[in-house]
Amino acid sequence: MKIDLPMGADPGILYRAGEKIGARVEVAGGSEVRTRDAGQRIRFDARIQPLHPDHYRSRGYNGRRLNAVCWHGHREWMRAIYKAHPDAVIRTALATYRGAKHFEDTHEDTIREGLSGSQTCTCDE
Ligand SMILES: [Zn+2]
Repeated sequence: MKIDLPMGADPGILYRAGEKIGARVEVAGGSEVRTRDAGQRIRFDARIQPLHPDHYRSRGYNGRRLNAVCWHGHREWMRAIYKAHPDAVIRTALATYRGAKHFEDTHEDTIREGLSGSQTCTCDE
């Protein structure tokens, strides 16, 4: 996913947010972009992968573990980023979130696609 942070922001937050949920984070990019609504930003391309066999891990329809963080894990990772940078813009395959409030208001809507028939997880909620 693509993450726009304020100029001068420390991309270390992306890794620390990953540690918080037990995921490995790969970050690329870090180029300056001029956005229409938020002005000059620094854009990162990030991927997260699960480190633990069950915690926040997606499973296929047959129950097999996938090398993917589930919807809940993505949510907690993005929440940790928004805690540090409430005005971050995060673009995922499912949606674009323009700031912490927009994220909290709309992220739940992606649960159907995020936990579709072919993928599930063992989280309690
Ligand atoms: Zn889950």
